[in-house]
Amino acid sequence: MGKHECLEPTRRGFLKAAGVSALAAAGAFGLAGCSSQASNTAAVKNAGGVGRFNADLYTDVFPVKTRNIPVLDLESDLTRTGNVAFEMRDIPESEIVRTEETDVLVAGCGLTGSVAALSASDDGTTQVLCIEKMDVGRGMFEGMGVVGGKKMEEAGNIVDKAEMMDVMRFAAQYRVPVDPIKLWGDRSGEAADWLQEKFDEGEGQIQTYFKAGTPASHGYAAPQTEIAFKSEQWSEQTTKNAGGAGIMIVADLANTFSKRANADLRYKTAIVKLEREDGGRVTGAICKDESGYFRVNASKGVILATGGFEANPTMLKSWCRTEDVTNYASWAPNTGATGDGQLMGLAIGGQMDPLPAAVMNFDFGNPTGFYSGATGLSPFLGGIMINEKGVRFCAEDLPFQARSNAISAQQGCGARTWRLSSSTQLASLEDAAREKALTAFDGLIEKGWAFRASSLAELAEKIGCDAKTLEDECARFNAFKDASKDDDFNRNMAKATKIEGDEFFAMIHQSTILATVSGLVVDYNCHVLDYDNNVIEGLYAAGGASGGFFSGNYPRHIFGPSVGRCVTFGYVSGEHAAKGE
Ligand SMILES: Cc1cc2nc3c(=O)[nH]c(=O)nc-3n(C[C@H](O)[C@H](O)[C@H](O)COP(=O)(O)OP(=O)(O)OC[C@H]3O[C@@H](n4cnc5c(N)ncnc54)[C@H](O)[C@@H]3O)c2cc1C
Repeated sequence: MGKHECLEPTRRGFLKAAGVSALAAAGAFGLAGCSSQASNTAAVKNAGGVGRFNADLYTDVFPVKTRNIPVLDLESDLTRTGNVAFEMRDIPESEIVRTEETDVLVAGCGLTGSVAALSASDDGTTQVLCIEKMDVGRGMFEGMGVVGGKKMEEAGNIVDKAEMMDVMRFAAQYRVPVDPIKLWGDRSGEAADWLQEKFDEGEGQIQTYFKAGTPASHGYAAPQTEIAFKSEQWSEQTTKNAGGAGIMIVADLANTFSKRANADLRYKTAIVKLEREDGGRVTGAICKDESGYFRVNASKGVILATGGFEANPTMLKSWCRTEDVTNYASWAPNTGATGDGQLMGLAIGGQMDPLPAAVMNFDFGNPTGFYSGATGLSPFLGGIMINEKGVRFCAEDLPFQARSNAISAQQGCGARTWRLSSSTQLASLEDAAREKALTAFDGLIEKGWAFRASSLAELAEKIGCDAKTLEDECARFNAFKDASKDDDFNRNMAKATKIEGDEFFAMIHQSTILATVSGLVVDYNCHVLDYDNNVIEGLYAAGGASGGFFSGNYPRHIFGPSVGRCVTFGYVSGEHAAKGE
């Protein structure tokens, strides 16, 4: 959780906390001599506490136009922090132990990187070096959102492309350039077909198929865009566990790539810094492995597939809405997603999405992570959502991101919001499932995250709200059930059950962040653009490292556009890099 403290931000502080060598950065870009305290600060109150902002908040930290990327610095005690590999300093030639030649360098081997590496090496002749800074790439996802393709046609699910692109742009409130969503609309179906071919080439027996999603609610469109994955080799747990199949998929794609004659896949190897001819082409990068720094000359281009910055708390706090990142649980199992691609792209003149950056936020959060459905706790998520006062604050059947936003809008950015349920929500369970649920719930009580009581008044005392307020709120909700109409939040009451019986349960229920989805703005061929919208030759970005696609929140009511973007942009960037275009 973030601290609610008054902190003095500095440029050095931002860079240091973001994991970048601050002294080196200061020397390299003329920041040497900045005082360690901002000279002119203004206290700004916000819901989560008090922050102090640098007077130069909207000046550039990088030596290029960066469309007002701020240098807000807040320390963080979040533990889920990966190692940032990006370095701003000039790395002396004396530290570079060797030079390697390749055609295409792919940085990152998550979903996007493994797809880009396969696509770039498809011609059998282009030499592709794919480097991953962790010991393995780990994708977390269940499905991908696409428009068209064979599996959609076979299932008779025809989505109108123009309508779909409009839904995506609407979700971003039209704060996006034209090309990225157009690229997804035009080529995601083709990319999905290509992906099935790569699975057929691999050993994982992975099949893609159309999966019907939840219907529209509360004015959010729910287009049927989901392509899901299955394999005879996966356990039921793998497919059910939120995002678990993604790990198997990335492993399969990376394995297929590594077997190609023109492929070179290396783990524990990081891209550190891009190399660009003065204002011209990106020629390669400085990378690092256990032997030290080495130069990679990439004659056809570099593809940044380094993901988002969900594992970099300082960047989250600097680039996202305070409310989104103050009281949230981080559930980003990939600790390698530390924003390296965004930082190194900015450093050579790349254009970053405007701020605040968009997050993929859900509810179902606890103080350290995510309530997985596999734990047996699902029945307790069937009741109502209440805030610190014991009052409902949103419809419980909203899309994930809307529930998460409503949580963050409560006192202290959702520090004490609850899921409240009762015997009614457990009534339909078989004995074994009921036992499993109660055992899991008691585990939460031991952690101090949940309470059980035999009356609402007793529960109110335990969670620290007024008993009459809570009793009145539950009675009001039960009356909505009788009337089949939620007068407060317009929840569909058909599936709702009353809060009543001989036992009542409250579990802490916070917002979670799964990923960030803002990055370097790209054109229709996935080239990174500069701030004058000119292509930076030789540099591509795809997936979580790329931008121009989302704004505000990730639109979870549309199924899988993030993975749809990873696959489509990975495929397209690889295709163009291989041609040297
Ligand atoms: C639980 C969960 C469920 C999800 N479900 C879905 C879903 O169903 N549908 C959907 O659309 N999205 C989903 N998402 C989001 C989705 O997982 C991500 O958007 C997607 O995986 C991003 O892929 P990526 O390859 O671009 O980035 P990443 O998966 O983050 O991969 C980037 C890779 O680059 C490496 N890297 C970083 N820096 C460097 C460097 N300097 N040098 C070398 N390597 C580097 C990282 O270690 C990492 O392996 C889910 C996320 C979570 C957490």
